[in-house]
Amino acid sequence: MIGIFGGTFDPIHYGHLRSALEVKESFDLTEVRLIPCANPPHRNQPSVSANMRLQMLELAIKNQPGLKIDTRELDRHTKSCEVPSYMVDTLKSLRQDLKDEILVLFIGSDAFKQLTSWHQWQQLFDYAHIVVLTRPGFVAGQLDDFFKARLAKESNELAQTSAGKLFMAQVTQLDISATAIRNIIAKKHNPGYLLPDAVIKYIKKNKLYETI
Ligand code: ATP
Repeated sequence: MIGIFGGTFDPIHYGHLRSALEVKESFDLTEVRLIPCANPPHRNQPSVSANMRLQMLELAIKNQPGLKIDTRELDRHTKSCEVPSYMVDTLKSLRQDLKDEILVLFIGSDAFKQLTSWHQWQQLFDYAHIVVLTRPGFVAGQLDDFFKARLAKESNELAQTSAGKLFMAQVTQLDISATAIRNIIAKKHNPGYLLPDAVIKYIKKNKLYETI
């Protein structure tokens, strides 16, 4: 079973890293693939180049063997700069590479609320399970029939098929966002303890995020 964690990672921080590590262990995943987005369809363009975001990811996961970087969205973008990074295309391409492997896409509960606006969102379930990372006390609200039909009550149901289920999983969510980190740096404050020291060093050396 392989986990997939997409994001802009502008920059990567302990909120991402803690969630990735926790799902790796609680779902007993072979690996978690962090997939940096080239051209996110749902938000402003990243303030730092893809190459620099990738280098920060490399520094952040250096000593975590279960966390891997998958550059397929960046590679696709190099070939065609106009194409947004649609998750459905990413999952399709992972499925081609990984054949019958169980694939689990992890998304935050905020992202889940927007899921029905994603390009070809229903097809996501053809290629992977989706696990929504929730905080304690999270209530999904009224799920529509499409989701209800796919909802797994226990996490072990995910092992029964390679794709197609929806599951709500509680994880420790640290209240850290890349936006807050960029603001702290622009104010010349210290972002220490919000992201790995090696990443902070890289940001300083390259003078990143000094203006918003
Ligand atoms: P920004 O503030 O620039 O929007 P972000 O901190 O939300 O960035 P992204 O790279 O956009 O980070 O997020 C990638 C994925 O990580 C998303 O699925 C998002 O829900 C999740 N995520 C972001 N921050 C946290 C956090 N503190 N804890 C758990 N998951 C997080």
